[in-house]
Amino acid sequence: MNNKKVLQENPALCDDEVQTRQPDNLPESFENMSMPCQLLDVNGIITHANSALLDLLGYTDEEYIAQPIDKFCIGRKAFQEISSRRSQKQGLLNFAAVLKCKNGSLVNVLLTADPVKSNNGFTYLQCFVTDVSILKKGDDEKDELLANLEHSEARLKMALEYINLGTWDFNPISGELIWSDECRRIYGVEPDTVISFELFADHISSKDREAVLEKLQQVMNAGSSGLYDNSHRIIRFDDNTERWIRSQGKVYFNNQGKPQRFIGTVADITDSKLAEEKSARLVAIVESSDDAIISKTLDGVITSWNDSAKRIFGYSADEIIGQSVLKLIPDDRKNEEPQILARLRRGERVDHFETKRITKYNKLLDLSLTISPVKDFEGNIIGVSKIARDITDKKREEAKKNDFIAMVSHELKTPLTSIKSYIQVLLAQAKKDGDSFRTHALTRTEVQVKKMVNMVSDFLNLARLEEAKININKEYFNLKPLIEEIVSEAKLLTAYNDIVISGCDLTLFADKEKIGQVLTNLISNAIKYSPEGGTIAIGSEKTTDGVKIFVSDNGIGIALVDQKKLFERFYRVENEKLKNVSGFGVGLYLVAELLRYHDSEIKIESSEGKGSTFYFFMKEDLEIK
Ligand code: ADP
Repeated sequence: MNNKKVLQENPALCDDEVQTRQPDNLPESFENMSMPCQLLDVNGIITHANSALLDLLGYTDEEYIAQPIDKFCIGRKAFQEISSRRSQKQGLLNFAAVLKCKNGSLVNVLLTADPVKSNNGFTYLQCFVTDVSILKKGDDEKDELLANLEHSEARLKMALEYINLGTWDFNPISGELIWSDECRRIYGVEPDTVISFELFADHISSKDREAVLEKLQQVMNAGSSGLYDNSHRIIRFDDNTERWIRSQGKVYFNNQGKPQRFIGTVADITDSKLAEEKSARLVAIVESSDDAIISKTLDGVITSWNDSAKRIFGYSADEIIGQSVLKLIPDDRKNEEPQILARLRRGERVDHFETKRITKYNKLLDLSLTISPVKDFEGNIIGVSKIARDITDKKREEAKKNDFIAMVSHELKTPLTSIKSYIQVLLAQAKKDGDSFRTHALTRTEVQVKKMVNMVSDFLNLARLEEAKININKEYFNLKPLIEEIVSEAKLLTAYNDIVISGCDLTLFADKEKIGQVLTNLISNAIKYSPEGGTIAIGSEKTTDGVKIFVSDNGIGIALVDQKKLFERFYRVENEKLKNVSGFGVGLYLVAELLRYHDSEIKIESSEGKGSTFYFFMKEDLEIK
């Protein structure tokens, strides 16, 4: 590089303080300095430029020296800046400028101007040029990075708020603890309350405090991973309620292994904790239940299987989960499954459905099934849960009881029939003789004997039903005379009730004896459960569903819970009022079963204290007029 210096004076731009003259003793090092440097006279004219500067900008001496510095500056003029700073007595250190290179490119520089007085009293400016293009580029990137950071911080903040996650920042050296708004909300702390570690510790539930503080201490110990994740109970500041939180964080250590900063997040997990506890309780209940509890998809694929299911059916969970429930159903009952599913789809629950199922070892079991739909959050049925109770033993017991009842009833039937006939003969004679005492006594006896006859015939029918030996012998008969006969016998049982018949003049095609038994049971119940008297109405109404036949009373009525179970065998309502009313809980079961044999169904409308109406429909095709 040519090291020649060109001196030029420019008297026109002189100020009072300095004159434009060549400095007499230019430092020797000037030329060899690796740092770009130039000398300016008091008018901003370049008088010297070292090789480093000329190399940086790409000019020759001739092109650069004797030119005003501002000619090479873009935007803010460097000399103007220097002058104004000097006049305001400001520092001339590192002010930014952009210099234009010969090839047209621009260089970002920092100029540091240094007024120097030479021996001859001449003052000039030594101007060091620091190329900061790389830094400047870094700055741009930094700006971009900062902007990105700001955006992602804002996004993070939004995300944290969205998932209700609070943040905290603890300085173990100063003891300062900062909580985000969400964190304060979780703890129920006012925005202006100053939080300290002690205050935080005070609000850890006493049940967990010791363990939490110990864990915090451990994680801040040198050599620990610094990772913290802990769920515990806190006591909220505002209402002192207990909540569950999950706190996760990280401790940052300095080179000496001292904790510098501990930051993390906090979430209120009370709801999920309670749900967790609830489902744990449910799991425990399911697992400890004596009943088999099974769930399956709507296609009948088994999805869960408890211990009792294993005990009852013999299959382990591994063997059966994923298999079809049909595996448990005997061949002659396979059609039950679609029927049950159809009922569930209609939103019905199947309660105490008695059936048979088959075990892994081909043993037939008597089971009582309670089946309910499993719904998702939107109420869609997504599966089925089934509770199966093994009633094989109960069934065996019942069978024994039935055998006994059947035997006794059978043995009683013949003597009772002859007693009844003798009483009727004796009663007719007593009436003829005008013997009122004998008439009264024999009438009472006849009533009691009739009760016994009815009871025995109920028991016999029960036994026949159990063995599926019941025969339905249909015939055409008029309903009214049948009802009148039953009512006249029933009247012997009651002195308190009015019994009224309406309609009923219709011909049915049914088993007259069985329909008679249905009505006898309904009417005697109406009398039995209307202790205060009142009217018992028996009647028929024609409806679009056929003929509705009803027996209604204004007696004690039946609570809704009992109504659902009333037609189960041996079911009796248990309450104070009924303590002394005798019965076996067989009547309504027989009513329901006998009607089922006629493709009909017994129904009830009742409210406690007001009375009950039992009714059933005989289908149109059963009726001829
Ligand atoms: P039982 O009368 O022998 O107990 P049922 O099967 O005939 O058996 O009736 C079952 C239960 O239904 C009775 O115990 C009684 O509580 C109730 N019940 C039946 N009919 C009536 C009615 N008309 N009013 C009030 N409760 C009734």
